[in-house]
Amino acid sequence: MGDEVARKKEIQELKARVEEMKARLATLEMQIENAGKRTAAKPQWKALVDTELCVGCGTCESVCPVEAISIEGQARIHIERCIGCGRCVQECPEGALSLQPLGVSNHAALRFQDKLQHVG
Ligand code: SF4
Ligand code: SF4
Repeated sequence: MGDEVARKKEIQELKARVEEMKARLATLEMQIENAGKRTAAKPQWKALVDTELCVGCGTCESVCPVEAISIEGQARIHIERCIGCGRCVQECPEGALSLQPLGVSNHAALRFQDKLQHVG
């Protein structure tokens, strides 16, 4: 008799743990879904200079609404400020600018470009 009571109690405890795990799983799934939505809702585009084409005319600098471009011989994009509006791309007479999606590797490439232009 005592054994049966103990078994029933054990089963109840296990059921309670299963419910608790289900609730935690649902919370985690919701957090993952929300994180995915945040990432998807925020594609980042940044201007990129083709240093083979840029002649340093300054047109892009004058049209950028957030002062994300300076001319140091050639155009230099300050990627932290660039909002990806594309105005500089439209106005460049040499076709030296393009918008690129900012992924991890692009970010590294842009920083590398930034460094090269800063040194050169
Ligand atoms: S408008 Fe084009 S060519 Fe002129 S500085 Fe900017 S990127 Fe270079
Ligand atoms: S894309 Fe827009 S914000 Fe970015 S550098 Fe060009 S003009 Fe400025």
